[in-house]
Amino acid sequence: MPSTLIHNIRSLVTNDPALGRGPLGLVEDAAVVIEGEHIAWVGPGDRAPQADAAHDARGRAVLPGFVDSHSHLVFGGDRTQEFNARMSGRAYEAGGIRTTVAATRAASDEELAANLARYLREALQQGTTTFETKSGYGLTVEDEARAVRLASEQTSEVTYLGAHIVSPDYADDPAGYVDLVTGEMLRACAPYARWIDVFCEKGAFDGDQARAVLTAGRAEGLIPRVHANQLSHGPGVQLAVELDAASADHCTHLTDADVDALAAGNTVATLLPGAEFSTRAAWPDARRLLDAGVTVALSTDCNPGSSFTSSMPFCVALAVRDMGMTPDEAVWSATAGGARALRRTDIGRVTPGARADLALLDAPSHVHLAYRPGVPLVRAVWRNGVLAV
Ligand SMILES: [Zn+2]
Repeated sequence: MPSTLIHNIRSLVTNDPALGRGPLGLVEDAAVVIEGEHIAWVGPGDRAPQADAAHDARGRAVLPGFVDSHSHLVFGGDRTQEFNARMSGRAYEAGGIRTTVAATRAASDEELAANLARYLREALQQGTTTFETKSGYGLTVEDEARAVRLASEQTSEVTYLGAHIVSPDYADDPAGYVDLVTGEMLRACAPYARWIDVFCEKGAFDGDQARAVLTAGRAEGLIPRVHANQLSHGPGVQLAVELDAASADHCTHLTDADVDALAAGNTVATLLPGAEFSTRAAWPDARRLLDAGVTVALSTDCNPGSSFTSSMPFCVALAVRDMGMTPDEAVWSATAGGARALRRTDIGRVTPGARADLALLDAPSHVHLAYRPGVPLVRAVWRNGVLAV
């Protein structure tokens, strides 16, 4: 198996406290050996073994590739006008999704696949090596099945989100739509998906409907995750913990009981600051969650309506500036935290045996991701051991 030595790394984030300093397991003046698709060796540069090839990091920082555990990238059209209107004083409502539903249904398979490939490439260039993406803009059996099938051709982390909003076709019969989502649509989508998700919110699905969706998905072998407590207080977070969902996403409006439930349970709180940024909404309080002992992930929520960014570095900067996270915490949440939210142990860390997914920054430290917001710092990316950027 061909091996590559990456040497002269000024600062390496391993996310393994056994390998280095602090929760990030920081190693200074480090080296990494990649063998095939995996990390074979990590340690101080002066003790690095020989390899077939060498890559000089030239005194810059290396960290695990970002794990973006929440996006909606199977869509047609865009929502420039809605964004422009909102930034000119109009409030955001969940119903804006209907615009994208119409455009997605009208798009060809080729258009949807090309769109998805474009945004995955864009994210890769910014250091994202693992990408979850969802259906949810089809809302018919055929259109949802098409979305998860197209997504499964480009990523292994696919989520069935038939329960994004009640389909406009069922405006007078939401119970009938839940029957469809938990019945025929679920059976058509489950073969292509790993996860099931529901938007538990006023104007979307209430607690009882969300429970029906998630338990039906579980019976088909899918693992729950929940859009919870984004726009208002509600039952989403506690339902997620009760059903052992991998992640409760958004978590912007939380009671003390919600925070306690997350701290006691196995469910990751995934914060999506791009959504609050793009809708001028109140920020989720990451500090409160971290201080309570909750595992926090950061993700882009990349979608054409409420958060049209594919940039994990941007989300790290927002989390530090506006959500009370330290740079170390934000970088951990964007890498190891995302891996937890996807229940993966092979990514989000730079340790022997892990997948060789790495980002090399044009900066001496991971802190620069927050210190230099908006600057394209990702210089090189290895994915599955291959230099991809
Ligand atoms: Zn979302």
